Amino acid sequence: MLAIVHSRASIGVSAPEVTVEVHLSGGLPALSIVGLPETGVRESKDRVRSALLNAGFEFPARRITINLAPADLPKEGGRFDLPIALGILAASGQIPPDSLKALEFMGELSLDGALRPLKGVLPAVLAAREAGRSLLIPQANADEAALASQGDVLAASHILTVCEHLNGRAKLVPVPKPPADARLAAGAEAAADLADVRGQQVPRRALEVAAAGGHNLLFFGPPGTGKSMLASRLPGILPALDDASAMEVASVHSVAGQPLQSGGWRQPPFRSPHHTASAVALVGGGSSPRPGEISLAHRGVLFLDELPEFERRVLEVLREPMETGEIAISRAARQVTFPARFQVVAAMNPCPCGYSGHPNIECQCTPSQVMRYRSKISGPLLDRFDLHVEVPVQAGEVLLRHGETGESSASVRARVLDARNLQRKRGCLNASLAGKALDQACRIDAASEKLLAHAMERLGLSARALHRILRVARTLADLDGQATVSKPHLIEALGYRQLDRQQDQGALVSA
Ligand SMILES: [Zn+2]
Repeated sequence: MLAIVHSRASIGVSAPEVTVEVHLSGGLPALSIVGLPETGVRESKDRVRSALLNAGFEFPARRITINLAPADLPKEGGRFDLPIALGILAASGQIPPDSLKALEFMGELSLDGALRPLKGVLPAVLAAREAGRSLLIPQANADEAALASQGDVLAASHILTVCEHLNGRAKLVPVPKPPADARLAAGAEAAADLADVRGQQVPRRALEVAAAGGHNLLFFGPPGTGKSMLASRLPGILPALDDASAMEVASVHSVAGQPLQSGGWRQPPFRSPHHTASAVALVGGGSSPRPGEISLAHRGVLFLDELPEFERRVLEVLREPMETGEIAISRAARQVTFPARFQVVAAMNPCPCGYSGHPNIECQCTPSQVMRYRSKISGPLLDRFDLHVEVPVQAGEVLLRHGETGESSASVRARVLDARNLQRKRGCLNASLAGKALDQACRIDAASEKLLAHAMERLGLSARALHRILRVARTLADLDGQATVSKPHLIEALGYRQLDRQQDQGALVSA
């Protein structure tokens, strides 16, 4: 007697189909699993036997062969427990085999037959729908699956409930879609608001520019000036995610076994890994590869506080995904790719003690200590930041102006949206402008060209740096609603290259 049950593996953020074939034959009672099962799947034998017996089913005293196909697909964890158990029940006539046809099943069994939650349910919901089947999952994953439910997801907490459904005795009710407002919450309301930030006009403006053009931003300044406070407000001035992007974000979180942040479905993620984070924690990996911080920041913001404190090796692995928007993780002969299209905001002190350039506190560092500290960030990495902006110590009077609030995130976000709409018409965000598109979008007049040439000479800027200045100038023109980039935009953009300027020690143009 042969039974076939449909299930799904979890590889990267995809959920390829796995067919569980269960064959009962004569011979000494035994159970074998074939088809590249990993340890977690091999242990499934004992769990399935106990679960079936404890739930009051008969465990067939036959030779049981279980094949997980295709064989070349890696399979890990207990997610195949439920399909294996159902296959045994169908093959031994304890549930009708036809009842399995239109469904897919995933779930780890506990010894008493209860279903335990899994990682990566959301991609499986989408993939099962593509295949024209409904998916049955553990009850504990129902909230997550609801994000993508179209009435084709069933959830159960015990194998007995699953069998009642398959026998037609007590049908399960499909997992409902969550109420529209919960799913569609723009999320900005939940995020920290820019209105809480007093003063800091230049860093606030830089944050708006970064949001408008998708630029990477580096804040530097002494401790306690609000660099982290500013950075954490970036998601609140970014446009809400569209449906496709929101589903990508939710899928990465599902595979990582991490809940979506409280801000809601459409909120761009904000991740701030500690500087002691390992390369694996940051980019992903592990024996069955899981997404790292950069993938959890997909379509959102990766905040790297105390940038020079990160291990240099760890920072260097960021360079590739910052260009390509994804990260490939190799493990044995296999490669898994996770999405990682994120915007970076980094913060650093000006020197190891933090007080270089401080108006009242004396810096304790030697020049060579300062140099070593700054050189921890390689040129190629620094080059990926379009904006370097100082967050200075503020005069006491600014901080003491109680009751006075800054402009709110909502009103800044409105300008960001307008600027992004202009970019959408040109085809891409200004941060990704390159080659011909860059030349076309950033055409400047002769006077501006002269200004730029002069600035480049004085600052010793590279061609790459020039491109960054032009991209930022384009964003400034978009925020102005101007079709062409003009001199004031270039001057302001040059002002956001403060670390280039420091290297040269030359004052440039007064903005
Ligand atoms: Zn110092």
